[in-house]
Amino acid sequence: MSLGFLEKARSVGGPDAIRTHDLRLVKATSFQLDHGPIDGVILIFIRYASAYKINSIFMGFDIMKKEKDYDLIVVGAGPAGMTAGMYSVRSGLETLVVEKGIGGGLSNEAPVIENYPGFKGIGGMELAEKMKAQAAEYVAIKELEEVKKIELSEKEMELVVFTEKDSYVTNAVVLSTGTKHRRLGAKGEAEFLGRGISYCATCDGFFFKGKPVIVVGGGDSAVKEALYLKNIGCEVTLIHRRKKLRAERYLQKNLEEAGVHILWNSVVKEIKGDKAVRSVVSYDKESEIEDEFPVEGVFISIGEEPVNKLAAQMGIEMDKNGYIIADKSQRTNLERVYAAGDITGGVRQVVVACAEGAIAATSAYNDLLELSTK
Ligand code: NAP
Repeated sequence: MSLGFLEKARSVGGPDAIRTHDLRLVKATSFQLDHGPIDGVILIFIRYASAYKINSIFMGFDIMKKEKDYDLIVVGAGPAGMTAGMYSVRSGLETLVVEKGIGGGLSNEAPVIENYPGFKGIGGMELAEKMKAQAAEYVAIKELEEVKKIELSEKEMELVVFTEKDSYVTNAVVLSTGTKHRRLGAKGEAEFLGRGISYCATCDGFFFKGKPVIVVGGGDSAVKEALYLKNIGCEVTLIHRRKKLRAERYLQKNLEEAGVHILWNSVVKEIKGDKAVRSVVSYDKESEIEDEFPVEGVFISIGEEPVNKLAAQMGIEMDKNGYIIADKSQRTNLERVYAAGDITGGVRQVVVACAEGAIAATSAYNDLLELSTK
């Protein structure tokens, strides 16, 4: 196995030396492309023979021959992935972050984040943009490029990441694919998606100013969505299936103070409309009374589901809810495959995702370093 940076680290020592040496090898590799492999090899030999130990030259030679593109590829550019990318490059690994949408993940949709240290209150999108700008100083983030498949290469200990546009060979992978919104399953939900039904108040709330809307759910997200919509001037009703909210106390207090109307013990049976949503049919489980009332917007916020297709395809162990099982070092059951962020379940908070991304990248660095010294 070729370990790019890490083998060079062994031969020349120290992070600064690694970077300089790597740049020279990149230049030599481009020479090889222009002038053919033999000339390239001779050039490398002449150029480095006096400067480095002989084994270092053969490592460089190996780098020229192999198809490996990266030491580490991070799949998903939410807070976990962006942090992993940044830590990985800073530790000296050749790294790429690949993202199917635009970076930021679901944090983009948080109306406000009040518990990310250093910011008393910041919009989710603004925080994600700040993270992206910082990460991009270090690592290339390929957006709008979905990873379709990850395979163990026939070449020993290499992984091939296939996207819809390209394929990349890497020594290690961090999966930070996050979660997606859970669907309610009510009649009319699919039909009116984008025509009054939304999963993101910050994205779509603006269109419902001054209009009656409902928010479905009782967790942190639902309460935050309800507060956001109330603040921008919507007439908000929260519908929750139980008599107790799951959301943190502080948010519940804010909800009460904002005077958001709550329908307890109720579920949405149907969403009705013509070209757009016009009403919902709710069912009170306690009184067993069905009611239909006019609304123009339905914001569904009933939790998330892991985006685990890649993990399943790779044979990564998951828990009964489909979240990747990772140890404290973010290692999965597959060697050199790590998981970070919401895809690992647990406490789903931006600060936790960032921490897991940092840990995953550090574990990858340590594992690759250890392999390179074997
Ligand atoms: P969540 O905590 O899983 O809450 C989902 C809510 O939707 C629950 O109240 C649940 O009801 C309800 N629900 C689930 N399935 C339903 C269905 N089929 N029909 C009706 N209601 C249904 O999800 P979340 O609020 O999206 O939060 C996800 C994670 O992100 C959590 O860990 C949360 O702490 C975190 N988060 C944190 C913040 C923050 O500012 N601290 C903000 C957003 C999210 P039951 O209560 O009856 O189960």
